[in-house]
Amino acid sequence: MRNWKLLSVWPVLGLIVIGVLWFAEQSQVELDRRAAANDGLRDAATLSKAYARYIDRSLEQADQLSLFIQHEWEHRGNSLKLEELSQLGIFPASQYAFVSIINRDGIVLTGSLSATSVNSLADRDYFQFHKHHADTSLRIGTPTVGRISKRIVIQLTRRLVDGQGNFDGVLLIAVEPAQLTSFYDNASFGKHGLLALIGQDGRVRAGRVGEDMLQLPHEHALPLIAGDVATSALYDRQWFADRQARYVGQSPLGHFPMVAIAGFSEQERLSPYQDTWHAFEMFAVAGTIVIVMFIVIAGLLSARLIWRNQRESEVRLTYRLATESGHDGFYMLRALRDRSQQVVDFEVADCNERGAAFTGLPSSQLVGKLLSQLYPKPYFYVVLDMFRKAMEEGFNESELQIPPESPVKLEWIEYKMIRSGTGLALTARDISHAKRHERELWNMANEDALTALPNRKWMAAHLPGALKRAEDSGEMLALLFIDLDDFKDVNDTQGHSAGDELLRLAAERIKAVLRPSDYVVRLGGDEFIVILNPVADKSHVVHVADRIANTLKQPASLSATTQDTTGQRIASIAASIGIAIFPGDGTDIETLLKNSDIAMYHAKAEGKGHFRFYDQSLSDNLTRRLDTERALQLSIEQNRFELFYQPRVDSVTGELRSMEALVRWRHPERGLVLPLEFIPLAERSDLIMRLGTLIVNLACAQIAQWQDQGYPVVPISINVSPRQFHRGDVYALFASALSRHHVNAALVEIEITESLMMGEAENIDATLSKLRKLGIKLLIDDFGTGYSSLSQLQRLDMDVLKVDRAFTSELGLSREGEVFFNAIVSMAHALGMSVVAEGTETLEQLEVLRGLGCDEVQGFYVARPVTASEAGVMMRKRFLLPEAPNRL
Ligand code: C2E
Ligand code: CA
Ligand code: CA
Repeated sequence: MRNWKLLSVWPVLGLIVIGVLWFAEQSQVELDRRAAANDGLRDAATLSKAYARYIDRSLEQADQLSLFIQHEWEHRGNSLKLEELSQLGIFPASQYAFVSIINRDGIVLTGSLSATSVNSLADRDYFQFHKHHADTSLRIGTPTVGRISKRIVIQLTRRLVDGQGNFDGVLLIAVEPAQLTSFYDNASFGKHGLLALIGQDGRVRAGRVGEDMLQLPHEHALPLIAGDVATSALYDRQWFADRQARYVGQSPLGHFPMVAIAGFSEQERLSPYQDTWHAFEMFAVAGTIVIVMFIVIAGLLSARLIWRNQRESEVRLTYRLATESGHDGFYMLRALRDRSQQVVDFEVADCNERGAAFTGLPSSQLVGKLLSQLYPKPYFYVVLDMFRKAMEEGFNESELQIPPESPVKLEWIEYKMIRSGTGLALTARDISHAKRHERELWNMANEDALTALPNRKWMAAHLPGALKRAEDSGEMLALLFIDLDDFKDVNDTQGHSAGDELLRLAAERIKAVLRPSDYVVRLGGDEFIVILNPVADKSHVVHVADRIANTLKQPASLSATTQDTTGQRIASIAASIGIAIFPGDGTDIETLLKNSDIAMYHAKAEGKGHFRFYDQSLSDNLTRRLDTERALQLSIEQNRFELFYQPRVDSVTGELRSMEALVRWRHPERGLVLPLEFIPLAERSDLIMRLGTLIVNLACAQIAQWQDQGYPVVPISINVSPRQFHRGDVYALFASALSRHHVNAALVEIEITESLMMGEAENIDATLSKLRKLGIKLLIDDFGTGYSSLSQLQRLDMDVLKVDRAFTSELGLSREGEVFFNAIVSMAHALGMSVVAEGTETLEQLEVLRGLGCDEVQGFYVARPVTASEAGVMMRKRFLLPEAPNRL
């Protein structure tokens, strides 16, 4: 319906224009016609007046002539010869056809023409009229064929009377009608002018139309208009034989009962206008043709346009129906351009409900909105740029993370833009869910589940790019390899949940001291990597490494360990940090990682809790270490170990109480190697398990051998590494070694360090109590260096406390040393344990120890570690203190 209205606009407009055109043309013609008619009527009236005057004069002349002849005839009577007068030129032939006098009997008496052949004229109308009418004025007859002239003439007659006034005859002047119409000239009347003389009686006396004389008396007379002034009117064609309408003027004659008629052909009068009118008409016709063509073309074009719009809206509707049901948002955007044709904004021309819902508006409100109204600046310009690009390139497709300032309340969309006509068709799909899922998957692959830090896989993907960027910009990048110290112990002794908590805490703390551009990665276990990028100079790295070490060291309470009666445990994490710097210490991930690891290893070996930069020598050290490790392994297989023994004696009597087995490695090149050089290595690499088994068996075999050889064997104390307790079955190891070598459990003691007892591990408690039940004494080694509390010692029911050498060496040097030692002794005694002072090197120390009530001593003052055979000698000797006075 709307389309039809649109379509009919052109024809209607066109018809109006055509109407106006023709109306203008017609009214111009009408104006001209009216002007012509006015002129024609006026001229006709004027001319008829002139004609009337002319005829008046002519008739008056004839009248005077008749009076003159009458007069002559009254005086000269029959002697008057009109022939003579004619010869004198009194009756010009051009004016009068003839003049004659007729007697009372109708006989022609005299005349300008010979009338001998004519009999009586008494029967003529005029004769009868004059005979019976006394009127002596000139009578004007109607055209009649004259008997004398033999032509059509108009007879002007006058009554002649005798002396008594009786009818005496008639004076006749014949005038040819042509004489009366000679007034006609082409200049005034044109070719089809009208000239006529009509009597008041309505009968035509003379007349002509153009060149033609009226064929009297056949012509109809024109209806006369009454009045004594000149008038005019338009007589239509029916009045005239030539079927031409005429403007006709009528004027009564002054002295005769006649009306003079003059007229013009309407057609002739209008002919000067005809050309103009014709031109007008042609113009109007041409205009009409042009307009009609215009209507047709415009109609066709708009029909096409309408058809297209129709199709477009159909397509849009179909598309809308299709899209409305789908999950995609669909928008039609119209590009708005400025004068320079630059796209400056877009208008939402259409959208589906889904698409509108993305913006939180109903589609009825979204449609018609401008982008600039929807998007806040400056984000609007970002969006505009994107859309402009799509306009230029015709197509654009991508995924987009929606920033918070966008009116679209989704996280991620996938969009497709296609240029269509003057705008863009845009479809958008909500892929937030898929993206979230993707991110979760990515996280699962790239993130450490425990600490939520990026993992090794992430680092492997991230580092090459970072290295490339650092290389391009000429900047340095630092890799910090962080390994928590003694984490294994925490895990082993306090349980995995405590270990997990510690790792999370470490992760948080490390992260907190870094810049946003730096990363922490959890490599696995208690190993972290920090990537510092960029690095201006080494001092910055030092600063960061310091901060990391310090922040980790801060005490923290762990909630995961709940069993302890003292409440929450306080954990302080130390970490060893190794640093490798790109590009100096390596240009690829593997090298950088390896070198930072090496540096970390050395930091740890040098005493833990601090950092170390990588350098080539470290690498060399490591190589050496690895060599050592390999050699150690080989030596274990080849049983290249030997036990030395160091006695432990009563502090007062010097009597041998026990021998401590101290392992030595018979290295093929290096000779005898002390345990501090390989025990830590063995502990790190789990070689300690096999080495430990070897040592226990060596000791038991030695005991058996001494017994076989008849030595008075004292108990042998064997050092067992905490790792052996955590990893292996120490009870089974001892039980099987004792039985294999037929050794009494009472001859074996176990030295364990404090750190073993810090944990809550129940299985260790159980192992220890099983060993005691077996008859093995338990000694706490290196007491005072760890963190064990009194309550733990009490719970574990230990037999002997070996106070670390560090405290013994203080004795005699400071008062504090003694106070501390004294406290330990009284505490141990209160718990039912005896106390051994390790590292007693001087007599002075020995005497102080005796004073403090220390039960036993061990150290170089008594004896250095010795070989098995020397030990046998010592067993026999039994009292080992060098001072004579104390020997009983
Ligand atoms: P430890 O258990 O504290 O052993 C005592 C260490 O102190 C021995 O060193 C010994 O030679 C040394 N020593 C004894 N008296 C003195 C003294 O008066 N002054 C000084 N300066 N040192 C003294 P060694 O034999 O080198 O052993 C070192 C450490 O290696 C031991 O410390 C122990 O922890 C470990 N170790 C030794 N043998 C074994 C073993 O068979 N198994 C395990 N797991 N560890 C062992
Ligand atoms: Ca020991
Ligand atoms: Ca010790």
